[in-house]
Amino acid sequence: MVLAALGQQVGAALKKIVDSNSVTAEVLDEVIKDLSKALIIADVPIAVVNKFRDRVRKRVNLKEIAPSVDVRVMIQQAVFEELVAMMTPTVDGEKVPTFKPKRNKFNVIMMVGLQGSGKTTTCGKIARHYKKKGFRVALIGADTFRAGARDQLAQLASTVPAPCFTSDVDDPAQVAREGVARFREAGYEVVIVDTSGRTQQDEALMAEMAAVKEAANPDHIMFIMDGTNSGKIIALQSEQFHSIVGVGSHVITKLDSDDTKGGGALTSVVSTGAPIAFIGVGETMNDMQEFNPESFVSRMLGMGDIGGLINKMKNAGLDSEKSVEVVTHMLKGETSFRDIQEQLRMMDSMLDGGSITDFLKHLPGMGGLGQLDLDGQDGMGRLRKVQYVFDSMTPGELDSAKINDESRLRRIAMGSGVPLEEIKLLFAQLKKMANLFSMMGKGLGKGGLNPGKL
Ligand code: GDP
Repeated sequence: MVLAALGQQVGAALKKIVDSNSVTAEVLDEVIKDLSKALIIADVPIAVVNKFRDRVRKRVNLKEIAPSVDVRVMIQQAVFEELVAMMTPTVDGEKVPTFKPKRNKFNVIMMVGLQGSGKTTTCGKIARHYKKKGFRVALIGADTFRAGARDQLAQLASTVPAPCFTSDVDDPAQVAREGVARFREAGYEVVIVDTSGRTQQDEALMAEMAAVKEAANPDHIMFIMDGTNSGKIIALQSEQFHSIVGVGSHVITKLDSDDTKGGGALTSVVSTGAPIAFIGVGETMNDMQEFNPESFVSRMLGMGDIGGLINKMKNAGLDSEKSVEVVTHMLKGETSFRDIQEQLRMMDSMLDGGSITDFLKHLPGMGGLGQLDLDGQDGMGRLRKVQYVFDSMTPGELDSAKINDESRLRRIAMGSGVPLEEIKLLFAQLKKMANLFSMMGKGLGKGGLNPGKL
């Protein structure tokens, strides 16, 4: 699959940066050229590639980078974020959220798309997806055009398992109306309406879509698209369906297929403002994944989830430059007590009620942190204690990386109210943490960017 190849090529281009002793304008140019080429081969539209290139160039201005920032981390972050941006529709700068059915409410999802796109199969997959999440799910077979579609849906429904309403009536709007009324009455929560496709978008299909929409009164419309099509075709289809029925989200199918380039499918739908909610990666009912641009790009590049980490930092109110600076420090392992103090402060605001280990999982190669036993009440308590300890340290002590002097340690213990032995233990743990960050830095520096497989 070409997307794996794209991951490899992007990874290889970034490795040039990582491997170079100093990142000159020539190296940066070459890497940006390599990246653009890889995207074009993966069928990403030229206009999107040009935008990507310009934005990365603008963000990485070699002349203006502060000495405290590792330019290699900065470039990786820019590439990561711009790849994510390609697949993320925004409205007024805000990411468009994906649809989430409401619990204990009646949610109707209407599925539209051309014949053969994988619409009926996806109805089954989506039904199973929501059923697994605990919703009461039902299906309606309003594809009265394709012979066999109703039986196919009923068969898929039996494997979910979920009830399926079909009818011999030829009018799809009537079938949809009847099915919706029946399942509403019976108290279902998520009702999925399969509709007819055609081999190409024509007026009869568009009129039918509009009639079914009126009858089913859907809360959300998903457009199912065949990922083996070129980005150009997909963009056209998406725009046309969007203008007739108002597409809420996309499902891109067949991303597992050998003749799928993927890049076009994943980037060309963004212009409609509707996100990609799911991707189909095979013919069986379990072969569907929720689509999240950040984790998708992370996985594609085999980067762990460093982008997710930087995102969290931003959500915690750090600006882009500051978050790169902090990650740079962490990766270099040049960690003074003051750095750790800063990082813990951030971690505290970033945790947002989540577990510390969960947070650290965003970092590649961080499995070993489990041994620090930072989770739960105890872990949080320990973090707070570290902060008291830092508050009792002099500026000089904060700027150092080690304190061996027993009288200083005793003074800090007195000031913080934390017993001396505990302080020693804490410092040992912090040292371990700093070492792990530094190991991770070396990993990123030397082949840590292993191109991943999807
Ligand atoms: P519809 O005409 O749009 O309802 O399409 P179907 O659901 O009947 O699917 C058409 C073909 O695509 C079937 O052979 C499906 O098994 C296949 N298909 C659907 N989704 C995927 C997918 O994600 N990957 C692969 N490889 N095949 C898929």
